[in-house]
Amino acid sequence: MKKVNLNSPIKTIGVLTSGGDSPGMNAAIRAVVRASIFYNRRVFGIYHGYKGLIKGQIQELFSSDVSDVITRGGTFLRTSRSPKFFEFEGRKKARNQLSKHEIDALIVIGGDGSFKGAKTFSEEFDFPIIGIPGTIDNDLFGTDYTIGYDTALNTVVQAVDKIRDTASSHDRLFFVEVMGRDAGFIALRSGIAAGAEEILIPERRTDFRKLKNYLQEEYRVKKSSSIVLVAEGDDSGGAIVLANAIKRDFPDFNVRISILGHVQRGGSPSAFDRVMASEMGIAGVQGLLNGKTNVMVGMKNRKIVFVDLGKTVKHHKKVKQSLLDMVKILNV
Ligand code: ADP
Repeated sequence: MKKVNLNSPIKTIGVLTSGGDSPGMNAAIRAVVRASIFYNRRVFGIYHGYKGLIKGQIQELFSSDVSDVITRGGTFLRTSRSPKFFEFEGRKKARNQLSKHEIDALIVIGGDGSFKGAKTFSEEFDFPIIGIPGTIDNDLFGTDYTIGYDTALNTVVQAVDKIRDTASSHDRLFFVEVMGRDAGFIALRSGIAAGAEEILIPERRTDFRKLKNYLQEEYRVKKSSSIVLVAEGDDSGGAIVLANAIKRDFPDFNVRISILGHVQRGGSPSAFDRVMASEMGIAGVQGLLNGKTNVMVGMKNRKIVFVDLGKTVKHHKKVKQSLLDMVKILNV
């Protein structure tokens, strides 16, 4: 068992979820609660993210409060976006609430924005904070995976498989749009898993001419159906814009559009997300007790790592060239 400093001055830990929700956040909260209790600490749940922290929506949690939550998507602590937390006045109120409840350290489960807020707060008040990456986008630097990404991928793959059935029955060309305003991780991996004929992501400029040539040769001649997976942030403008452009140039193509939307955020978390969230939650508590602060718990090469929050918010995670190469090979 990992060595933990049981004499740490941190006696009470607060936990909150912030920003976009993701499946597996509940599993991470559960692990934070149970690990805190395991190490003889008190643990408080802060409801509605930073907004609730400012308002003092804070309640002590016990082991039974997190029974049965591992199977549920979303976050039972709720989440929010808090404009007040961008301002010093708001953060000062948050600090006062933590003093009032005698909370010595915080675990923030969220994405890039939540970590920016956590970093500022931790430095401003010299307050121990550890971040746990919870976002379906998998776009955080310093970790191979974020909590919720695997579940979202599985949701997309199931949906695209279903679309494929109807697409091939009618010889259709489908443009399927998935989440990813700034990052194409969901589109790329789910596209490979679902056998998409083309995958368009924000990290790579979309070449309309090439796409048209490809569709003309492949869809028209070789394939009965084609699926083009488009990340919502792709520079082409998304599935609707693309589909309209293709329809204009190829009126005989049987084109359809499907925008998957918020179904991608929900659902019972996958086994992978549950296990990783549990590992990260425990590591967060152990990290705090061992004196770590202003870091994110990450997963690198299947091992837990701690990464400076500063690095996670400053750097952009790159898509793997090897995955892009795979798409080329698999679509000969
Ligand atoms: P996510 O964590 O999913 O990326 P957001 O970007 O919406 O979500 O951020 C969540 C919340 O974190 C914001 O509503 C705000 O309260 C806080 N936050 C984000 N950026 C900052 C910042 N630069 N300074 C202080 N707080 C921030």
